[in-house]
Amino acid sequence: MSARIDLHTHSNESDGTDTPLELLNKVAEAEIDRFALTDHDSIAGWQQIKDLVPSGIELVIGAEVSCQTVDALSVHMLGFLFDPENKALIDSMNETRGNRITRMERIVGRLQEAGINISVEDVYAEVSEGATIGRPHLADAMIRKGIVSERGEAFERFLHNRSKFYIPDASPTPEEAIRLIKEAGGVAVIAHPFASLRGRIISSEYLESLIDAGLDGIEIFHRDHSEGERDQLFALVRRYALLVTGGSDYHGKRKVNRLGENLTELSQWEKISERATGYTKGA
Ligand code: AMP
Ligand code: FE
Ligand code: FE
Ligand code: ZN
Repeated sequence: MSARIDLHTHSNESDGTDTPLELLNKVAEAEIDRFALTDHDSIAGWQQIKDLVPSGIELVIGAEVSCQTVDALSVHMLGFLFDPENKALIDSMNETRGNRITRMERIVGRLQEAGINISVEDVYAEVSEGATIGRPHLADAMIRKGIVSERGEAFERFLHNRSKFYIPDASPTPEEAIRLIKEAGGVAVIAHPFASLRGRIISSEYLESLIDAGLDGIEIFHRDHSEGERDQLFALVRRYALLVTGGSDYHGKRKVNRLGENLTELSQWEKISERATGYTKGA
């Protein structure tokens, strides 16, 4: 049997639209046998479904940790198989979630100054209780107000990383996130690092410095990477013997990404699970 492993998914504990349980059902339908729930800065979804996973499916504990470089570039760091009780990592994610609220208020303030009819209350109405708030929720509020018709349009017109309304979120540096994930016994994999269509990306030199800082792997199989970007990343993987992952970055119904559209090879998964010391379920 071929292993279908999707190591990048979101629920409505961050900016996805499915509840963790709905996601679990869809994973089963998509015949995925191992998946990581990697909500932005949260493991609340994993906590909800960890004891409900049917046999034949393995749920991998994960998170997509928001980071910001000293040059204010946004970087997403996937952590896998860390200890869910590691205080430093959990505290850091909690702090980022809090900072994201202040940041959202500032973005909304800028939109209001430009005459756009949107309030923070409109945005909160789109966020489920306790979830990590992000630009997709603001996009959803803009849809509800009739300002745009879909999330993609909101990002193109107002919310993209080069927009005058954009404010990066206050969060750890990528180096700090790598350290936190690894000290929690996890494995650190940078998410979609060269996805230039999302906005300004980090340089190869900077990515190499993250390898020095302990980065374990690179998410290469992701819909936002072009062929050329994949080739560049594979060159780094070969040079530094890094792990390679893939994932759908599924967010539910408001993004086109389909579960299982990008996958991680079994041999790579095996290396991740061998390397991790934080979460060793069934060991
Ligand atoms: P934030 O976490 O608030 O910085 O927002 C980043 C999130 O926005 C990403 O994790 C994606 O879920 C989403 N996103 C980024 N670009 C787009 C886009 N062009 N269309 C829809 N969603 C996007
Ligand atoms: Fe997201
Ligand atoms: Fe991401
Ligand atoms: Zn993601």
